[in-house]
Order: sequence, then C-alpha cells, then structure tokens
Amino acid sequence: MVQRSGPASARLPRTNPVRTCVGCRVRAETGELLRVVLVDGDLALDLRRRAAGRGAWLHPELSCLDKAERRRAFARALRVPGPLDAGALRSDLEQLAHRVTGSGSSRPGLDERKQVDPS
Ligand SMILES: [Zn+2]
Repeated sequence: MVQRSGPASARLPRTNPVRTCVGCRVRAETGELLRVVLVDGDLALDLRRRAAGRGAWLHPELSCLDKAERRRAFARALRVPGPLDAGALRSDLEQLAHRVTGSGSSRPGLDERKQVDPS
C-alpha cells in the first residue's frame, strides 16, 4: 500500500518558474530576473536564457549585483571556487538598467518580500 500525501507535481498549474535573486534573495518569476552564466570563466548575461550549465538569477538592478558580489553569491550559485570578476556583467547591467529606468514605468512586485523560506 503506497500512498503519497504530497502534491502531485504533474497537476501544478502552468505558472512561470520562480527563482531566487542571488543578490537580495527575493523570489521572483524568471521573467523578472536575469540569468547569469559563466562564459570562459567570466560572468555574462544569458539574455536568451538558453545557455547550458548552471545559471544564477539576478534582478536587473545594480544594488542586487552589489549584494551578490559582496557575498560571493555567484561563485556559490555557479558552483565554482574562488571569486568571480563581475566587471563585464556590471557594465552590461548598467546598460540594461538605463533602458529599464528610461521607460518611466514602475515595475511591480520587486519589493514584495515574501518570507517563504522554511527554517
Ligand atoms: Zn534582487
């Protein structure tokens, strides 16, 4: 007699996958986050989200990049030893941020901090 009490994953509704920003640790749909991958040992934006291998997820905000750098979250998320140089990533992000803030529209949901982490 085998009975599983957990929810059946096959019956989940079609929602966007949710990831945790490696900077501020807030969970968000992948559509609101940038995927960061390692390209030849350097951090790079994976704008098409199709690069193979591990990815780290980050809000398109420099403050999140700062936080992620400070706690070396990229190395941890990407499972590599040692510090990673985020210089190229930072300039890419700055360009993106300019584009985002230039639109003038507010982005909802980014400050919604949900305490969903089980402790
Ligand atoms: Zn963030």
